Amino acid sequence: SAEKAAALATAEPSDDAPTIFDKIINKEIPSKVVYEDDKVLAFRDITPQAPTHILIIPKVRDGLTRLAKADEKHIEILGYLLYIAKVVAKQEGLEDGFRVVINDGPSGCQSVYHLHIHLVGGRQMNWPPG
Ligand code: ADP
Repeated sequence: SAEKAAALATAEPSDDAPTIFDKIINKEIPSKVVYEDDKVLAFRDITPQAPTHILIIPKVRDGLTRLAKADEKHIEILGYLLYIAKVVAKQEGLEDGFRVVINDGPSGCQSVYHLHIHLVGGRQMNWPPG
């Protein structure tokens, strides 16, 4: 519902405010990591919306709190994150297809201000999204 969406989304915090993803990257709080390298981390969403629901994030946020803050310096990592979404989709066996989502800002229902790609699959997706 619109009320639920508004409650899930949060007002945009300041650009240097830490998020829960810092603690996940630093392994201060546990997560189910499915892929990791020097640039990105992919881990299972704690509230899965599909049989497969994975978040793919840059290890260094570098100002990329949300897609709307993307600058030319982020072009390489943005492409890399999308490529890793494909790598992880294959690893998860999503041969029949999957969906990638980036929620941006309050209207996009973003709640964690560290850019992340949602990789969802394992069931039939519908369109339009909620
Ligand atoms: P929304 O919460 O509306 O989906 P986002 O696009 O910002 O907005 O997504 C943040 C995601 O982070 C949510 O899907 C949420 O379930 C997930 N999440 C929050 N905390 C954790 C955590 N500790 N471990 C794994 N996933 C988490």
